[in-house]
Amino acid sequence: MIWLNKLFKGSNLKFSAGQCHGRHADDGFWNKPSSSLGIQREYDDEDIDQALALSLSEEEQKKGKTVDKSLLEEDEQLAKALQESLNAEYPPRQNGQICQPNPFSFPSVSRRCAGCNKEVGRGQSLSTMGAVWHPECLRCHGCNKPITDYELSLYENRPYHKSCYRKLYHPKCAVCKQYIPAIRDGHIEYRAHPFWGQRYCPLHERDGTPMCCSCERMEPRDTKYVTLDDGRKLCLECLNFAIMDTSECQPLYLGIKEFYEGLYMKVEQQIPLLLVERQALNEAMDGEMNGHHRLPETRGLCLSEEKIVRTVLRRPIMGSGHRLTDMITGPYRLIRRCDVTAILILYGLPRLLTGSILAHEMMHAWLRLNGYGSLSLEVEEGICQVLAQMWLDSEIVAGSASNVASTSSSSSTTRPSKKGARTQSERKLGECFKHEIEADASPVYGAGYRAATRAVNRYGLRRTLDHIKFTGSFPY
Ligand SMILES: [Zn+2]
Ligand SMILES: [Zn+2]
Ligand SMILES: [Zn+2]
Ligand SMILES: [Zn+2]
Ligand SMILES: [Zn+2]
Repeated sequence: MIWLNKLFKGSNLKFSAGQCHGRHADDGFWNKPSSSLGIQREYDDEDIDQALALSLSEEEQKKGKTVDKSLLEEDEQLAKALQESLNAEYPPRQNGQICQPNPFSFPSVSRRCAGCNKEVGRGQSLSTMGAVWHPECLRCHGCNKPITDYELSLYENRPYHKSCYRKLYHPKCAVCKQYIPAIRDGHIEYRAHPFWGQRYCPLHERDGTPMCCSCERMEPRDTKYVTLDDGRKLCLECLNFAIMDTSECQPLYLGIKEFYEGLYMKVEQQIPLLLVERQALNEAMDGEMNGHHRLPETRGLCLSEEKIVRTVLRRPIMGSGHRLTDMITGPYRLIRRCDVTAILILYGLPRLLTGSILAHEMMHAWLRLNGYGSLSLEVEEGICQVLAQMWLDSEIVAGSASNVASTSSSSSTTRPSKKGARTQSERKLGECFKHEIEADASPVYGAGYRAATRAVNRYGLRRTLDHIKFTGSFPY
C-alpha cells in the first residue's frame, strides 16, 4: 500500500474550477465543470473567468440578468463597462459558433443568437458563455437537447445538462460502482490505478477492500477475489495464469535459463528453485545477510545460506468461500554447493510476474557467481530489474503475432507453447508488470532501474556489466 499511495499522490490533487482545462480525464484528475449553475451574481475575477449566466426566472429578471428586450440597455451598459475594464474584444465568431467566449462582451448593436446566428428578438433569451441564445438554440453537448433549466454545466466551453455532464464525466467508482462523492467545494477526490486506470473512492483503501497481490487492482463489490493459503488475495485474471507449485514452475525456470544463455550469461550451477508461501519467504529472508526487501512485499529471494525451507509441493485447490486450500508443503534442505543455495519465489503469482521475479533473482545469482562482490543496492537491484524487464519484453514480443523469439533458438522449438504471452489478457498483465517496474517510486528499485536502463541503452548490457564489475557503478 505504501507503493500505491506514493504513486497515487498525484491524483490526490484537487483542482479548482477552471484551473485545468483540457487535461485528459484519465490523468487521474476529475475536472469539475467550469460552473454548474448558470446564474452569475457577482463579478469577481473567478466568476469572470468562467462567467455563465442563464436567466429565466422572474427573480433574475428583476436583477437585470435576463437579456430580454426591455433590459437590453442595462445589459449593454454593463457589457461596455466590463469591456473597458477588461480591455476585452467582442467574442470572435465563426459560423455562428463562439470561439473562446468572452464573458460579458455582448454585441452592442444587434444581438444575434450564438447558436443560429439569427437575431434574438423579444421574449425569453438566455445569456451564457458571453453570448445570447434563443432558448431552443442553447443545446447540450451531450444529448443535443435544449437546456432550459438552471441545471447547466459548462465543461471545456461547452454547455451540458447537469445530468448529462454527470453521466459523461463524473467518475464512477470501480469498487462500489457509485458516483464518487464530492467533498468540500464540490471537488472530487479519487484514487486511480496508474496502469489500469481503475478509479475508486479513497475510502476503499481503508475499508478493507481487498487488492490483488499481483496486479494491484481493487476488488469490485460484484466480484470475488480468491484468498491464498497465506492470506494474499488474487484477482480471477491473475489466478487464471498463476503458477501454484514448485514443479509447475520448472518449465518457466528452464525458459529463463535459456534466456540467460541467449545473452551469453549462462548460469552453470544447478540452483534449486522453490516456490514458497509468504511466511516461508519472510523467514528465509530474516536469516539472509543480503536480503532484498521490496515494498510492499518481497516476492523473491536469492539465498546464499544453508537452511531448511518449506516449499510448495502441491498446488492448492479451490475450497469454499473462494479460498484456495489443501496445499501441500514440505521441507527442502538447502546444501551449499556454490555461493547461491536457492532461489525462492512467492507461489500463486501469474506466470509473467513469477518469471520476471525469477529473472531478477537469477541476475542476483549470476552477479554473485561471477565475482561481482558487494555492490550498492541501487546498482545491484537496478541491473536485476533491467533483466526482469528484458525478459518480460521478450515474452510479450514472443507472444505477439510477429512471434520474434529473442532467446536461443536451439531448444525453443521443443516447447513452443511455453514461449511468450499466449493471450491478449496475459500480454496486458505483462504490460502491467512492466509498468510496475518502470513506475516504481523507490530509490533502490525504481531509481536503480532507471539509472541502469540509461546505462544499458547507451553502452549495451555487456559493457555496462563490465563497468559495474570494475567500478561498482553505472557508466556515465
Ligand atoms: Zn438561435
Ligand atoms: Zn443533455
Ligand atoms: Zn466507491
Ligand atoms: Zn490481479
Ligand atoms: Zn533483488
